[in-house]
Order: sequence, then C-alpha cells, then structure tokens
Amino acid sequence: MAYEHTLSIIKPDATSRNLIGKIIQLFEGNGLSISACKMLTLTQEQGKEFYIEHKERPFYDDLVSYISSEPVLVQVLSGEDAIAKNRQIMGATNPADAEAGTIRALYAESIDRNSVHGSDSTQSAKREINFFFPDFT
Ligand code: UDP
Ligand code: MG
Repeated sequence: MAYEHTLSIIKPDATSRNLIGKIIQLFEGNGLSISACKMLTLTQEQGKEFYIEHKERPFYDDLVSYISSEPVLVQVLSGEDAIAKNRQIMGATNPADAEAGTIRALYAESIDRNSVHGSDSTQSAKREINFFFPDFT
C-alpha cells in the first residue's frame, strides 16, 4: 500500500441535485481525506483541456459541454491507495455496470451523467491535481 493523492470531481448532475454531502460522506467514510477542495464552473477551454485524452472519442464534444455547463466540486482526495480506492468507491463508468453501494450505482443518471470523475493512474492523478491545484504539494 502507498499513501497517494488523487483528483476527484463531483460533476454537474450531482451538484445540481444537492448530492455533494452524500458523496463526500462516501469518500470520508471509506478512508479518504479531503486535502484540497474548490467549487468552480469550468470554461469550455478548460473542459477541452481536462478531457484531452478523449479528443477522438464520439462523445468528446458533449462531454466538454456537459462538464462546463454548471458548477463542479473539485477535490484532492488522499489516503492509502487513494487512486484505486477512489475508483472503487465511484463504481463503473456505466451505472448499469456499477457495483451496489458505489456512488455511480447510487446516484448516476446515465453513462454521460455519472456524478463523479476520478483519476485512473498515478500519472493522470499528477496531471489532474496540477491542472486544478498547481500549488498542491
Ligand atoms: N462518457 C460518455 N459516454 C461514453 C463513455 C464515457 O459520455 O460512452 C463520459 C462519462 O462522463 C465518463 C467520461 O466520459 O465519465 C470519461 O470517460 P472514461 O472512460 O475516462 O470514464 P471514467 O474514467 O470517468 O470512469
Ligand atoms: Mg477516465
């Protein structure tokens, strides 16, 4: 096990349904701590840059519009195996495949309105934390 930091976003479908508290409860209740946190509305440019890895995917334009449409809560979550642990707490990308009790099983509306983002590797965690919290150490 390693102590890690990962980036989490509570997405527009969840902030707009007042689910921030319930979602944070799942992170904190499962051993992750909030090390940094802010609420903001991404510009289209920020949305494009953040999701650049999906540039060639058919859903890219819709994904960028969606993530930039309303305020999001961006957090650094920290703890033992934080990157994998956060992905477990989130559940599968498609809520239809998400394990019972995960955030996406509980709260996601669909694959494209799936309530949370989480970094998927050490490398992406580093890039994504730096994207929103350049002074985080
Ligand atoms: N997405 C989508 N349609 C798809 C696949 C993904 O709208 O068919 C969106 C969805 O919001 C997802 C995001 O694109 O969370 C990033 O996709 P990824 O495969 O990285 O899933 P994640 O890492 O969020 O589980
Ligand atoms: Mg991803």
